[in-house]
Amino acid sequence: MYSSKGITVAMLPTENTRPSTDAPALDSAVSVRNVSKNYGAVEALKNLSLEFPRGELTSLLGPSGCGKTTLLKIIGGLLEPNAGEIEVNGKTVSGPGPDRAFVFQDFALLPWANVIRNVGFGLELRGVPRSEREAIAEKYIGNVGLAGFEKSYPHELSGGMRQRVGLARALSVDSQVLLLDEPFSAVDEQNRRKFQEDLLELVRNENKTFIFVTHSIEEAVYVSDQIAILLPRPSRVSEVIRPSGFRHKDVENIRRDPEYLDIVDQIWASLRTYAE
Ligand code: ADP
Ligand code: MG
Repeated sequence: MYSSKGITVAMLPTENTRPSTDAPALDSAVSVRNVSKNYGAVEALKNLSLEFPRGELTSLLGPSGCGKTTLLKIIGGLLEPNAGEIEVNGKTVSGPGPDRAFVFQDFALLPWANVIRNVGFGLELRGVPRSEREAIAEKYIGNVGLAGFEKSYPHELSGGMRQRVGLARALSVDSQVLLLDEPFSAVDEQNRRKFQEDLLELVRNENKTFIFVTHSIEEAVYVSDQIAILLPRPSRVSEVIRPSGFRHKDVENIRRDPEYLDIVDQIWASLRTYAE
């Protein structure tokens, strides 16, 4: 059964959890249109287009160096594309904005600040008063399973716990779009699984759009409403897969679901054709 130490606070009624039918979502929170990006002579992305349905988790899955981080940074407004455009809620992206929050691979925490200050830091930058931001931070510290560690400093925490601090910070600023760049790569397998379950709960309970970068096929299939498979550089989307049948199942039953296993096999087969 799902552990009560994880993220169990439901913020929306269960009617708002994701549908288990395979009807495509019509409403895009983020649209990527014909985006190309070069680093000098290196073509990272070439004419890449992709829609990110609102309230869903979309994984970007592809081999190392195919341009996943590049695409995430372009969506985040941290990098400018050479061609094409990004829309978030119908508005063209021209730089970073409060509608998008980034959880980096190396979770950039402030070493001199304790957990509650780190989690509230995005709000602090926005001038939210201390008592208000600490109340919000407290809530998300609980939601990511870190209650009791408010006064701890980053060096006193494990890699997995630091990653949770980064996630709580991103959730605190209440951006509609969360950009996660291989957030579980630095944690051991056991914690990674726990994290994946927590992430599923967050997607179910928070009405946010998650864009999740991973190079793990199993992880992508496990956590995603939609998986975009990226080709090797210069990258564009080769395939979009929408797992549906097992989405409503208990977390511990997903990994044994025949559709889950089929999709993992199918993605292995299509990625194998690109591997040398
Ligand atoms: P991924 O996240 O999928 O591993 P990246 O987006 O980091 O891929 O990189 C895509 C390609 O662009 C790689 O070949 C990488 O070496 C190259 N690249 C990324 N950032 C830069 C940069 N700042 N300057 C030059 N080349 C870069
Ligand atoms: Mg990367």
